[in-house]
Amino acid sequence: TDAYLDRMEAAKALNSFITVTGDKAREMAKASDEKLSKGEGGPIEGVPLGIKDLFCTEGTLTTAASHILDGFTPRYESTITSQLWRDGGVMLGKLNMDEFAMGSSNETSFYGNVINPWRREGDDTPLTPGGSSGGSSTAVAARLCAAATATDTGGSIRQPASLTSTVGVKPTYGRVSRWGVAAFASSLDQAGPITQDVRDAAIMLKSMSGYDPKDSTSVDRPVPDYEASLGQSVKGLKIGVPKEYRLDGMPAEIEKLWADGIAWMKDAGCEIVDISLPLTKYALPVYYIVAPAEASSNLARYDGVKFGHRADKYDDILSMYENTRAEGFGDEVKRRILIGTYVLSAGYYDAYYLRAQKVRKKIFDEFTGAFSKVDLILTPSAPSAAFGLGEKSNDPIQMYLNDVFTVTGNLSGIPGASVPAGFDANGLPLGLQLLARPFDEETMFKGMYALE
Ligand code: GLN
Repeated sequence: TDAYLDRMEAAKALNSFITVTGDKAREMAKASDEKLSKGEGGPIEGVPLGIKDLFCTEGTLTTAASHILDGFTPRYESTITSQLWRDGGVMLGKLNMDEFAMGSSNETSFYGNVINPWRREGDDTPLTPGGSSGGSSTAVAARLCAAATATDTGGSIRQPASLTSTVGVKPTYGRVSRWGVAAFASSLDQAGPITQDVRDAAIMLKSMSGYDPKDSTSVDRPVPDYEASLGQSVKGLKIGVPKEYRLDGMPAEIEKLWADGIAWMKDAGCEIVDISLPLTKYALPVYYIVAPAEASSNLARYDGVKFGHRADKYDDILSMYENTRAEGFGDEVKRRILIGTYVLSAGYYDAYYLRAQKVRKKIFDEFTGAFSKVDLILTPSAPSAAFGLGEKSNDPIQMYLNDVFTVTGNLSGIPGASVPAGFDANGLPLGLQLLARPFDEETMFKGMYALE
């Protein structure tokens, strides 16, 4: 724990932590040492972790990287983090992220962008670590924590993992509890780990998983030992390769990465199956209706009364709400609230929100059809390697395109993971994504381990 705290201090310029909880970390580490010296302790006893600042942590500032949560110190602990502490984890601090997890580059954080520890060869341009879990991906990649928690609403675990050569897992919707995790889009949000390797991801996900009566969408089924899947033969597994993920103008290095992945799985004895997912082209438009709609509703609670920031100047309660929200939310969050309230408003609801929900169901059906033919689906995790800070921040559509391969997993609720798989011409890491049947994380881990 001390070694990690020293590294965190030395790597402050990466801006991956919003809050460092040194005293708490040392106290937890000491308790772990005592347990371990008696031969006791949980599966991650004494392991120093970074926690995305979307998870409520009792007694520790929790900001969602938003000005509107200034000074918010929860009196309760999220279910996931309490399971991590139950199993012996040590909290090093709270990790930077895009504001309310809205973004793909960590540039919408009120606390400033995070810097990817990776650089293009011979070029010092600072790069994004991806988002929204950019603090998590950076802290793991720079070895500032042994593992981190993250959340994925449209790709925010898998895309930052891909851009930093780390492993990221978004489990099946319902596998982990959302209780105590600030909500972005409740029907899409799912937490998971970002780790240095596949084994760590298996261990972390087991601690994070499980039914929680406090989350009505968490599912009551046994949590498998994901670690037991590692190293099991993948011979005979059917790997689907969806032709619609081959985008026009896709960089040659992403094509090559994908082809390499297909070849490795084939060498390992898998059967490669060409599949078609024609609705893929609707995934981003559907996501950018459903996610803002739910966000606009979830974010209504930040009104200056119950949490965090309240404007200094106002005349009456309405102007208090207005001024608080105008000051408290950043531009991207405001954009989502505007889009969300628009698509939910009378007269537009049927044309946008309802229609998007119908297409979403069809996307789910399409995956169900595909998984009657294949066990796993293999695609690139992101359409590019890490890009320069500021490069896409003025163009929301360019930014949204980062999630083109990942949003389908959230819309359909299926599990997905990103595994480091190669490098682009500049020496930047690239990841491959595996998607699996609902609640079949075990087969996904088998495939991930084979890819790694
Ligand atoms: N980049 C996507 C968005 O901005 C996904 C974010 C996420 O998964 N939290 O909505």
